Amino acid sequence: VRAADNIVAITGAGVSTASGIPDYRGPEGQWALDPKSELESDVSVLLGTAGVRERTWQSMLSSGVRTASPNAAHYALARLEQEHRLGLLLTQNVDGLHLAAGTSPERLIELHGAARTTRCFRCGREYPTGEVLERVAAGDDDPRCAMRLDGRECGGGLGLAVVHFGEYVNVADVRRAYEVLSTCDLLLCVGTSLAVNTVTGFVLEAMRRRVPLIIVNESPTSFDESATAVVRGNITDTLPSLLGY
Ligand SMILES: [Zn+2]
Repeated sequence: VRAADNIVAITGAGVSTASGIPDYRGPEGQWALDPKSELESDVSVLLGTAGVRERTWQSMLSSGVRTASPNAAHYALARLEQEHRLGLLLTQNVDGLHLAAGTSPERLIELHGAARTTRCFRCGREYPTGEVLERVAAGDDDPRCAMRLDGRECGGGLGLAVVHFGEYVNVADVRRAYEVLSTCDLLLCVGTSLAVNTVTGFVLEAMRRRVPLIIVNESPTSFDESATAVVRGNITDTLPSLLGY
């Protein structure tokens, strides 16, 4: 780790659980607790059903996503960049906490989008999610797009600008990730079960190049046996100490 100066890091929900954001896939995750919430990640359901959108906004309003703060793991990765040792940070999280911790947008790819942005399903216009939630809090249960098209209000349904089930990760982002992976000297996977196809591809690419692979996670992943090292335990403790902070 100390010798590496072009590190690619992949982070998942496990990095943000200590910030109070539920791990959607873990045993205690939101999907495990509320099977109905899985529906909200299916874009066709979200699009077609006003009732589902209303429930999504209400749960967003009461969730910790808007008020969460970065933790020691986010700050450790930001420090890696300050020391000019971070090639790229790829995150599966939509909570924006890497940016909040000081990671610069140029070094960060939010593979699954960002909850801070809301998008119209009809015209694509984007709004700050905070603005939309203010409308919800003021009693507008299913806020609609206010964009004027040909003199008429668009009126399309709104949803978070995140990658939903059935949608694809941005192709340009994936291409850039592979470019940096082709020169990196360490792949550091933190708080992710590495079960999602896109990140599985990144890990396989690093293995193909025989780049050292370090997995920092609280529970086993499907790549533990292929990893150079596996660090188990509380991520907010283990990651900073692994990085020597
Ligand atoms: Zn619109």
